[in-house]
Amino acid sequence: MHDCLFCKIQKGEIPADIVFQDDDLIAFRDVNPQAPTHVLIIPRQHIATVNDIAGSDETIMGKLFSAAKIIAAQEGVSDDGYRLVVNCNAQAGQTVFHIHMHLLAGRNLSWPPG
Ligand code: 5GP
Ligand code: ZN
Repeated sequence: MHDCLFCKIQKGEIPADIVFQDDDLIAFRDVNPQAPTHVLIIPRQHIATVNDIAGSDETIMGKLFSAAKIIAAQEGVSDDGYRLVVNCNAQAGQTVFHIHMHLLAGRNLSWPPG
């Protein structure tokens, strides 16, 4: 996707603080962190929203969870706990239309979310 911010980050065209990457996905720190640990995990492939996930995308979506587990361990938050969030469309607050999983940790996270 030509104009997609996160496609540009995954191609290295825009700098980011990368914490994990492999052939399928990349994870980097959120520029406006909402918790002491706030990492975004994205597939390299452009998928706009959860509504756009195809059956053939199930493998990569599963890999996002596996990466979250690895990154949580790297960040030292596995035992204390962390939250994984995927916002879909306007009412959920999605602002970047390249699917991403937020990994939030390092403080008590209230529930229900705002
Ligand atoms: P959303 O609201 O779409 O679920 O989350 C988008 C996230 O991307 C926000 O938390 C926002 O702070 C983050 N973000 C927006 N632009 C950039 C950027 O250029 N670099 C990084 N690292 N994060 C960004
Ligand atoms: Zn994209």
